[in-house]
Amino acid sequence: MSTVVDIQNVTFAYGENVAVRDVSLTIEEGDFLGLIGPNGSGKTTLLHLMLGLHSPDSGTIELFGDPVDEFDDGERIGYVSQKATSRGGSMPVTVREAVRMGRFAHAGFGRLDDEDEAIVDDALETVGITDLADRRVNQLSGGQRQRAYIARALASEADLLALDEPTVGVDAESRDEFYQLLDSLNQEGITIVLIEHDIGVVTDRADHIACINQELYHHGDTESFVESDALSEAYGANGQVVHHHH
Ligand code: ADP
Repeated sequence: MSTVVDIQNVTFAYGENVAVRDVSLTIEEGDFLGLIGPNGSGKTTLLHLMLGLHSPDSGTIELFGDPVDEFDDGERIGYVSQKATSRGGSMPVTVREAVRMGRFAHAGFGRLDDEDEAIVDDALETVGITDLADRRVNQLSGGQRQRAYIARALASEADLLALDEPTVGVDAESRDEFYQLLDSLNQEGITIVLIEHDIGVVTDRADHIACINQELYHHGDTESFVESDALSEAYGANGQVVHHHH
C-alpha cells in the first residue's frame, strides 16, 4: 500500500484570510476519502493544494511520493471541478474527442493507435456514454458531462480522481448512478477524494472522512466519524461556522 497524498502541517492564506490552518492528512492508495466541512471551510483550497494548484505558505505536500511542485505526471490525476457541470467553459468538441485527449500523453502526443482507440472505447463504455460519443460536450446534461470527464480520466489511466461537488445541478437519479460508478472505480483500485456537501452520500460511500473548517476536525474511518463530535464541532451548534481563536 503506498501513499498517494501526504500533507504535513500545511497552512495556506489568501492574503490575510487563512483558508487552511496546520492540516496534516495522508491518503493511501485505493482509499475513498470524503472531504466535508461547511461552506467556505477550505475544502476546495485543500484539494487545490493537493493537486499543486496552490503552494502552501508552510508545511509540505507530496503527491505519489514526490513534492507536489516537482510532480509532472498529470495524467495520473483526474480532476472534476464544480464548474464541470455548468454550461460555460466547455470546449465545443465531441465527447469522443474529449476522451481521446486523455490518451494523447500516452500516445506521445502523436497519433492514437488502435490500442489507444480501444482504451477510449472502453472508457466511454465504462461510464455508460458510448451512445453519446459523437455529441458535443457542451450539449450534454450535467450528469452526462461528469461522465465524460471521468471517461477522459480513465483513458489517461488516472489513478487518483479528485472531485469537487461533482453532482451539483445533476438530478437525483443520475447522481445516484454517478456515485455507483465512483464506487465501482474505487473497487478497481482508483483512489478517490470527493468534496460533497451531502454528508449522507459521504458517510454511505467513503472509507475515510476528513472534516475541516480551516483546521482538521476529524480524519479517520467513516464509522469513527459518525460516532465522533467532529461534525457538530466543525459545523457549530446551529450549522454556523465555528471560529477558533489561538
Ligand atoms: P469551501 O470549498 O469549503 O467552500 P474554499 O476553499 O473555497 O472553501 O474557501 C475557503 C476560504 O478561502 C473562504 O473564506 C473563501 O472565501 C476564501 N477563498 C477561496 N478562494 C479564494 C480566492 N481565490 N481568493 C480569496 N479568497 C478565497
